[in-house]
Amino acid sequence: MNINQTSNPRIVIIGGGFAGVSLAKVLSKQDVQVVLLDKHNYHNFQPLLYQVSTGGLEPDSIAYPIRKILQDYSNFQFRLANVSEIDSAKNNIITDIGDLKYDYLVIASGSETNYFGNTSIETNSMAMKTIPQALNLRSLILENFEEALLTTNLQDRIALMNFVIVGAGPTGVELAGALAEIKKGILPKDYPDLDTRLVQINLVQSGNRILKEMSEVASEKAEAFLENLGVNIWKNTRVSNYDGKTVTTNTDVTFKTATMIWAAGVKGASIKGIHADDLSRSNRIIVNEFNQLKTCPNIFAIGDIAQVETASNPNGYPMMAQPAIQQGKQLGYNLKRLLEGLPLTPFIYKDKGAMATVGRNKAVVDMPKFKFQGVFAWFVWMFVHLFFLIGFRNRIIVFINWVYNYIRFDREARLIIRPYKKKLKSDE
Ligand SMILES: Cc1cc2nc3c(=O)[nH]c(=O)nc-3n(C[C@H](O)[C@H](O)[C@H](O)COP(=O)(O)OP(=O)(O)OC[C@H]3O[C@@H](n4cnc5c(N)ncnc54)[C@H](O)[C@@H]3O)c2cc1C
Repeated sequence: MNINQTSNPRIVIIGGGFAGVSLAKVLSKQDVQVVLLDKHNYHNFQPLLYQVSTGGLEPDSIAYPIRKILQDYSNFQFRLANVSEIDSAKNNIITDIGDLKYDYLVIASGSETNYFGNTSIETNSMAMKTIPQALNLRSLILENFEEALLTTNLQDRIALMNFVIVGAGPTGVELAGALAEIKKGILPKDYPDLDTRLVQINLVQSGNRILKEMSEVASEKAEAFLENLGVNIWKNTRVSNYDGKTVTTNTDVTFKTATMIWAAGVKGASIKGIHADDLSRSNRIIVNEFNQLKTCPNIFAIGDIAQVETASNPNGYPMMAQPAIQQGKQLGYNLKRLLEGLPLTPFIYKDKGAMATVGRNKAVVDMPKFKFQGVFAWFVWMFVHLFFLIGFRNRIIVFINWVYNYIRFDREARLIIRPYKKKLKSDE
């Protein structure tokens, strides 16, 4: 890996997401050697992926080079590497570019889509967890409309214009809102010779309310916003299968569709070598309040991959950006204390709330003390997302895009740059 040996302890971080980057920033001021490994050379701002899928933003504006984030830190090394295994007995990790020894290891590998073992859904549905997946979805949506224009079979045309989104968490809700706006504002202009009234957007949720992690008032308001936009909401409906043509559910409801988007679950992106006793049912790594593995005190996990289990919090924190950022910072301070021989301080999550947007001028925001919805919530949503986006250039570009799209009722990144073929899925 071409990494020099120094007299300072070596801390290896796997993953340059929200958790890994916030840890790295704190460690930049310590007498340690830090090696950050990621299988991508960029940080991906996942909350805006749905805008890439729906042509609202270019992918480059939500990605940021990890080397650029770290370039001012002299104690840092970055390697583009996919970590395949951890050998905790030898303090060694195995990657596709070679092995590396560590003194302390921090796993910040995030999460991946959970298909709950259904290979048919995994093969045939679209996911939206990475930038390549978001681009695939963008291409498929546009290809569907091009094909719908050509087909003479009405049933085929209806299936091409029928979108089924499974999972009504923030991702599903935001995507449904964006597709509804495309149907209303863009398709009639782009495809004047296509009956765009045939476009259906179906949001399917197994539980009895959408945005179930948010307050009831947020759920009700978001549902009203979506219904106003023409989205069909199917509650208490659990998708059981999708063969590429028909979505079946646990009720009599079925959908004929060329596009099912799976936003119904995530699981920890764990790495081979972690003992089964350290893994939760959702494949997250179980850690104590210091983000430390019980079996290996020099291995830590932070962010989505970490299930911080305490008596008051037996199921871990939500898989969201804030817990990841806060755990990264806290572990940075704790590693400093560890090296100074001081006792570690426990991680305490400061819940700053949750939010989701449902299209133009509409969002729902739950803060610890206030809950609000509508236009003001939408401005707050935009401000918060711009604030946490990494990179000044990205913030400016996203802001300009949003202003332009708002004034022009447009989404100009509706481009089929890389045609989507289902067999390409393994490339991600
Ligand atoms: C579509 C979508 C919308 C979301 N919207 C919101 C939102 O509105 N608000 C919110 O708070 N949260 C949202 N989230 C969740 C939020 O993005 C995650 O909670 C957050 O990214 C977790 O940060 P992390 O650092 O743990 O993991 P990640 O940000 O996922 O980073 C993990 C990193 O590890 C790397 N990696 C993984 N495995 C390996 C390996 N074996 N070898 C090398 N590198 C590896 C990955 O390439 C990645 O860079 C959303 C997520 C998605 C997918």
